[in-house]
Amino acid sequence: MANLLVTGGAGFIGGNFVHYWAKAHPGDSIVVLDCLTYAGNRSTIAGVEQAELVVGDIRDTALVEKLLAEHSISTLVHFAAESHVDRSISGPDAFIDTNILGTNSLLKAARKVWLDTGSGTPHRFHHISTDEVFGSLGPHDPAFSETTAYAPNSPYSASKAASDHLVRAYHHTFGLEVTTTNCSNNYGPYQYPEKLIPLFLLNALHGRNLPIYGDGMNVRDWLHVEDHCRGIEAALARGKPGETYNIGGGEELPNMAVIDRICAEVDRAFAEIDGLAQRFPDAPAAKGRPTAELKTFVTDRAGHDRRYAIDETKARAELGYVPAHDFESGLAGTLRWYLDNEAWWRPLVRA
Ligand code: NAD
Repeated sequence: MANLLVTGGAGFIGGNFVHYWAKAHPGDSIVVLDCLTYAGNRSTIAGVEQAELVVGDIRDTALVEKLLAEHSISTLVHFAAESHVDRSISGPDAFIDTNILGTNSLLKAARKVWLDTGSGTPHRFHHISTDEVFGSLGPHDPAFSETTAYAPNSPYSASKAASDHLVRAYHHTFGLEVTTTNCSNNYGPYQYPEKLIPLFLLNALHGRNLPIYGDGMNVRDWLHVEDHCRGIEAALARGKPGETYNIGGGEELPNMAVIDRICAEVDRAFAEIDGLAQRFPDAPAAKGRPTAELKTFVTDRAGHDRRYAIDETKARAELGYVPAHDFESGLAGTLRWYLDNEAWWRPLVRA
């Protein structure tokens, strides 16, 4: 039995992790610390009996110390962040505040409770980071490995890179037992509909344009969120303190291929599932037309990284991590989840 503190557990990946962990470790108890920004949603974890939501800010160091001590937390899994690159371009400050100062606050609290007061209580601080800290790859460059030099290009990735360095420094300087995973683009249930896959799925259902940045040929690796959760679980079980591990989905795809697959899946769903045309009458597919007619090219994101690719050899060899989902069936399952859970996303999209 263990007691976990999960920051950002009402967000997309953190929420999926809470569901995953509760099912896989029914004897454990989970405290979720989340301040419920626009991206946090208490309904994401409402049904998980083992999880208690504390609405609070990771920058509140005293609150974090209190939670660690009072709940005898041995494992802290840190997801909380400002996570959307476009928002970091229009307003970087929140990214510096939450991602850098927030991570520092957690590290300070963990150091005090686990090392100073607790005299070295067995513990683990696991930090969730991104492949974006490594910068942008050319078409023939080798994939990012754990030893690739950091070269973050957006305010988002720069703030995550800074937090990664702080986590590393707390291990090196103070002996805090930390691990970090750098993952690729996640997709799956409970993702806020500003990110590519849920945005395009829901736009397609409502007959709204599918806005494609630039030429649509930016490349990303796609990781099903459940595989990511399994990777984190493996890092907690078998990761070595001080180490970092890349977690990928083994699915490197240009955005256009992702978008074409979304269009094909939506068309297929309307052909196969009764009643969808009545529920979503504005969808082209409801009128027998291809969803692809909604594709629209828009001005590229400023500083848009061209390609990310992830080499997860170390996680496979040292953690036994192997992604289980292929993109095609993972995407079909994700669409199905959004169709079956309209009550979750309806309040988040414009009428
Ligand atoms: P998200 O935006 O869906 O959720 C973030 C959560 O953090 C929200 O519930 C929000 O309310 C909470 N939060 C934000 N600021 C907070 C604060 N100051 N105090 C307490 N809670 C706060 O993000 P996500 O997509 O689930 O990403 C989770 C983590 O994974 C982030 O650290 C992100 O950088 C990283 N990551 C995400 C992806 C991806 O594809 N989504 C890829 C790589 C890495």
